[in-house]
Amino acid sequence: MEFTDALIQWYDAHKRSLPWRGSGDAYAVLVSEIMLQQTRAAAVVPYYARFMAELPTVEALAACPEERLLKLWEGLGYYSRARNLKRCAEVVVREHGGQFPRTVAELKKLPGVGPYTAGAIASIVFHEPAPAVDGNVLRVMARLCEDGGNVTDPRVRDRWTAFLQDRMGDRPGDLNQAFMDLGSLVCLPKGPLCGDCPLQNQCGAFAHGAQGDYPNRGEKKTKRQEDLTVFAVKCGDSFLIRRRPPKGLLSGLYELPNRPGHLSQAEIGQALTDLGVRPVGAWEIVSRQHIFTHVVWHMQVVRLAAEQVEVPGCAWYTGSEPIPEAFSKCLT
Ligand code: SF4
Repeated sequence: MEFTDALIQWYDAHKRSLPWRGSGDAYAVLVSEIMLQQTRAAAVVPYYARFMAELPTVEALAACPEERLLKLWEGLGYYSRARNLKRCAEVVVREHGGQFPRTVAELKKLPGVGPYTAGAIASIVFHEPAPAVDGNVLRVMARLCEDGGNVTDPRVRDRWTAFLQDRMGDRPGDLNQAFMDLGSLVCLPKGPLCGDCPLQNQCGAFAHGAQGDYPNRGEKKTKRQEDLTVFAVKCGDSFLIRRRPPKGLLSGLYELPNRPGHLSQAEIGQALTDLGVRPVGAWEIVSRQHIFTHVVWHMQVVRLAAEQVEVPGCAWYTGSEPIPEAFSKCLT
């Protein structure tokens, strides 16, 4: 039996029940696929439900103010995904009359829609025999075929895309979703559950006990390490925030006031004075860490109560501003 047939059979028996499945709605698939980038499906489900309840159509997303959109995205992180999603919706509404293009070639022209997302939408919604090659597919194929190609190399991704292009069969959307489910439930990055795998008797890595050797991800780049002193200045339920610069990491989002480096006690006192904060009582210091794609923040968090006076360049949180997790974790 072809491995794709075995995969489809397994999918029919074991597929995950996810709220965006079976809708036949390109907008729903787009939202789910963008959320699923960098976030596990189980974690996405409640965010997806809230998002679709608030913005059920591509027109609603296109018309949504950015601040409200980012608030809906709060907790998912990687906010550029939300902005790209809105830009995509705007183009669909403005240039396509609210109807999504139906082919990979056309979908890829939309902002923020790469080959994977285009393949997912085209195959799941419009039944185009298009592969959607993500990390799950690359991992499964590398193990299945004991392929040592570096999966971070776009040429390797292109090679697998071309390989699968001819094998999509008559249920391309289901085949892509079968790969997603197998990679998420069985062929796990660490500790694959080969005993449950429909591809076990065809899998080279399993035959040689070499599952851990694949996929080859090349040399891991070390992340930049940055020290930061963050001021968690509270007054009752509110806390002091300010806008980040329009460019760079977490651009345009809100942050807690902060300074580079780990400041000494004397420097903390001076920084609070410079900010214009009027402390009430002593401050405490706790440590928090946040890991981004390329950077790790080591945060020395200064927690204190203060009078709710006007602080230049800052505002007091009202409950509606989106606060990135890197900073919200400093408050608890
Ligand atoms: Fe992955 Fe194991 Fe299945 Fe091979 S047999 S595809 S390593 S889960």
